[in-house]
Amino acid sequence: MRFGFDIDDTLINLREHAFNLYKRKLNQALSREDYLSIQRVEIHEPFGLTDEEGKELWNNSLETIYFTDCPPFPSAVETLQGLAREGHEIFYITARPKGHRERTIKWMSDQGFPVLDSNFYYGMKDHEKIHIIKELSLDYYVDDKPAVLETLSDTTVQLIVKDQSYNQELHLPRLTAWKDFNRLVMGL
Ligand SMILES: [Mg+2]
Repeated sequence: MRFGFDIDDTLINLREHAFNLYKRKLNQALSREDYLSIQRVEIHEPFGLTDEEGKELWNNSLETIYFTDCPPFPSAVETLQGLAREGHEIFYITARPKGHRERTIKWMSDQGFPVLDSNFYYGMKDHEKIHIIKELSLDYYVDDKPAVLETLSDTTVQLIVKDQSYNQELHLPRLTAWKDFNRLVMGL
Protein backbone atom coordinates (compact mmCIF):
# COMPACT_ATOMS: atom_id res chain seq x y z
CA MET A 1 0.00 0.00 0.00
CA ARG A 2 0.96 3.63 -0.49
CA PHE A 3 0.66 5.78 2.61
CA GLY A 4 0.95 9.58 2.57
CA PHE A 5 1.50 11.69 5.65
CA ASP A 6 1.46 15.34 6.47
CA ILE A 7 4.20 16.09 9.03
CA ASP A 8 3.36 19.06 11.26
CA ASP A 9 0.62 18.35 13.82
CA THR A 10 -0.03 15.02 12.15
CA LEU A 11 3.15 13.10 12.97
CA ILE A 12 4.79 15.60 15.31
CA ASN A 13 3.38 17.88 18.01
CA LEU A 14 4.54 21.12 16.41
CA ARG A 15 1.92 23.59 17.66
CA GLU A 16 2.40 22.64 21.30
CA HIS A 17 6.17 22.74 20.84
CA ALA A 18 5.84 26.24 19.36
CA PHE A 19 3.46 27.25 22.15
CA ASN A 20 6.10 26.28 24.72
CA LEU A 21 8.79 28.18 22.80
CA TYR A 22 6.53 31.26 22.71
CA LYS A 23 6.00 31.03 26.48
CA ARG A 24 9.75 31.29 27.04
CA LYS A 25 10.35 33.88 24.35
CA LEU A 26 7.50 36.14 25.49
CA ASN A 27 8.00 35.31 29.16
CA GLN A 28 4.34 34.46 29.72
CA ALA A 29 3.25 31.80 32.19
CA LEU A 30 0.47 30.15 30.24
CA SER A 31 -0.72 26.65 31.11
CA ARG A 32 -1.27 23.47 29.10
CA GLU A 33 -5.00 24.13 29.51
CA ASP A 34 -4.49 27.47 27.76
CA TYR A 35 -2.90 25.56 24.89
CA LEU A 36 -5.62 22.93 24.75
CA SER A 37 -8.35 25.56 24.70
CA ILE A 38 -7.15 27.03 21.36
CA GLN A 39 -9.75 26.24 18.72
CA ARG A 40 -7.80 27.27 15.62
CA VAL A 41 -4.57 26.25 13.92
CA GLU A 42 -2.76 29.44 14.92
CA ILE A 43 -1.52 29.60 18.51
CA HIS A 44 -0.86 33.29 19.16
CA GLU A 45 -4.19 34.38 20.67
CA PRO A 46 -3.55 33.37 24.31
CA PHE A 47 -0.38 35.48 24.16
CA GLY A 48 -2.45 38.56 23.36
CA LEU A 49 -1.05 38.93 19.85
CA THR A 50 -2.99 40.09 16.81
CA ASP A 51 -3.14 37.83 13.76
CA GLU A 52 -0.51 39.98 12.11
CA GLU A 53 1.82 39.87 15.11
CA GLY A 54 1.22 36.14 15.40
CA LYS A 55 2.12 35.55 11.79
CA GLU A 56 5.28 37.59 12.13
CA LEU A 57 6.36 35.77 15.29
CA TRP A 58 5.68 32.39 13.63
CA ASN A 59 7.69 33.26 10.55
CA ASN A 60 10.56 34.68 12.58
CA SER A 61 10.62 31.59 14.81
CA LEU A 62 10.39 28.94 12.08
CA GLU A 63 13.99 27.72 12.37
CA THR A 64 13.66 27.20 16.10
CA ILE A 65 10.19 25.67 15.83
CA TYR A 66 11.21 23.20 13.13
CA PHE A 67 14.68 22.15 14.13
CA THR A 68 14.81 21.89 17.89
CA ASP A 69 13.29 19.16 20.03
CA CYS A 70 9.70 19.00 18.83
CA PRO A 71 8.38 15.62 19.98
CA PRO A 72 6.76 13.20 17.54
CA PHE A 73 3.33 12.09 18.76
CA PRO A 74 3.59 8.91 20.85
CA SER A 75 3.90 5.77 18.67
CA ALA A 76 4.06 7.74 15.40
CA VAL A 77 7.69 6.78 14.69
CA GLU A 78 7.14 3.12 15.59
CA THR A 79 3.97 2.94 13.49
CA LEU A 80 5.70 4.26 10.37
CA GLN A 81 8.73 2.05 10.97
CA GLY A 82 6.35 -0.90 11.12
CA LEU A 83 4.69 0.05 7.83
CA ALA A 84 8.10 0.38 6.15
CA ARG A 85 9.20 -3.00 7.53
CA GLU A 86 6.07 -4.58 6.06
CA GLY A 87 7.03 -3.22 2.65
CA HIS A 88 4.54 -0.37 2.40
CA GLU A 89 5.55 2.83 0.64
CA ILE A 90 5.69 5.96 2.75
CA PHE A 91 5.38 9.48 1.36
CA TYR A 92 5.63 12.80 3.19
CA ILE A 93 3.70 15.77 1.85
CA THR A 94 4.42 18.96 3.73
CA ALA A 95 3.81 22.66 3.22
CA ARG A 96 7.20 23.43 4.76
CA PRO A 97 9.10 25.79 2.47
CA LYS A 98 11.71 24.65 -0.02
CA GLY A 99 14.57 26.16 1.95
CA HIS A 100 13.89 23.72 4.78
CA ARG A 101 13.71 20.54 2.71
CA GLU A 102 17.12 18.97 3.42
CA ARG A 103 17.15 19.83 7.10
CA THR A 104 13.60 18.54 7.53
CA ILE A 105 14.55 15.22 5.91
CA LYS A 106 17.56 14.94 8.20
CA TRP A 107 15.53 15.98 11.26
CA MET A 108 12.82 13.44 10.46
CA SER A 109 15.45 10.71 9.97
CA ASP A 110 17.12 11.64 13.25
CA GLN A 111 13.78 11.16 15.03
CA GLY A 112 13.59 7.65 13.54
CA PHE A 113 11.01 8.24 10.80
CA PRO A 114 11.68 6.15 7.67
CA VAL A 115 12.40 8.77 4.98
CA LEU A 116 13.33 8.23 1.36
CA ASP A 117 14.57 11.39 -0.33
CA SER A 118 12.52 10.55 -3.43
CA ASN A 119 9.29 10.24 -1.42
CA PHE A 120 9.47 13.66 0.19
CA TYR A 121 7.27 16.46 -1.20
CA TYR A 122 7.30 19.99 0.16
CA GLY A 123 6.59 23.64 -0.42
CA MET A 124 2.98 23.50 -1.59
CA LYS A 125 0.07 25.53 -0.22
CA ASP A 126 -2.77 23.73 1.56
CA HIS A 127 -4.98 23.70 -1.53
CA GLU A 128 -2.14 22.50 -3.75
CA LYS A 129 -1.45 19.27 -1.90
CA ILE A 130 -4.27 17.63 -3.84
CA HIS A 131 -2.20 17.60 -7.04
CA ILE A 132 0.67 15.58 -5.67
CA ILE A 133 -1.64 13.35 -3.65
CA LYS A 134 -3.57 12.47 -6.82
CA GLU A 135 -0.39 12.01 -8.83
CA LEU A 136 1.05 9.60 -6.29
CA SER A 137 -2.09 7.40 -6.33
CA LEU A 138 -1.97 7.08 -2.58
CA ASP A 139 -4.15 4.51 -0.85
CA TYR A 140 -4.21 6.43 2.44
CA TYR A 141 -3.50 10.02 3.38
CA VAL A 142 -3.34 11.46 6.91
CA ASP A 143 -3.50 15.19 7.66
CA ASP A 144 -4.76 17.49 10.41
CA LYS A 145 -5.89 20.55 8.46
CA PRO A 146 -9.49 21.00 7.30
CA ALA A 147 -8.23 23.30 4.51
CA VAL A 148 -6.27 20.36 3.06
CA LEU A 149 -8.67 17.49 3.70
CA GLU A 150 -11.67 19.38 2.32
CA THR A 151 -9.98 19.65 -1.09
CA LEU A 152 -9.54 15.88 -1.22
CA SER A 153 -13.11 14.75 -0.62
CA ASP A 154 -13.74 13.72 -4.24
CA THR A 155 -10.53 11.71 -4.66
CA THR A 156 -10.22 7.95 -4.29
CA VAL A 157 -7.59 8.18 -1.57
CA GLN A 158 -8.84 7.03 1.83
CA LEU A 159 -8.54 10.05 4.09
CA ILE A 160 -7.80 9.95 7.80
CA VAL A 161 -7.88 13.02 10.02
CA LYS A 162 -5.41 13.37 12.88
CA ASP A 163 -7.57 14.53 15.76
CA GLN A 164 -7.06 18.19 16.74
CA SER A 165 -9.27 20.82 18.39
CA TYR A 166 -9.67 22.72 15.10
CA ASN A 167 -10.85 19.81 12.94
CA GLN A 168 -13.73 18.45 15.01
CA GLU A 169 -16.30 19.29 12.31
CA LEU A 170 -14.70 16.93 9.77
CA HIS A 171 -16.55 13.67 9.32
CA LEU A 172 -13.69 11.35 8.42
CA PRO A 173 -12.08 8.34 10.06
CA ARG A 174 -10.38 9.95 13.03
CA LEU A 175 -6.99 9.07 14.47
CA THR A 176 -6.72 10.11 18.10
CA ALA A 177 -3.61 8.05 18.97
CA TRP A 178 -0.96 6.64 16.66
CA LYS A 179 -0.94 3.33 18.52
CA ASP A 180 -4.41 2.76 17.02
CA PHE A 181 -3.39 3.48 13.42
CA ASN A 182 -3.15 -0.09 12.16
CA ARG A 183 -6.45 -1.04 13.76
CA LEU A 184 -8.11 2.04 12.24
CA VAL A 185 -6.77 1.26 8.76
CA MET A 186 -7.82 -2.38 8.95
CA GLY A 187 -11.35 -1.33 9.82
CA LEU A 188 -11.75 0.94 6.78
MG1 LIG B 1 -0.28 19.65 9.42
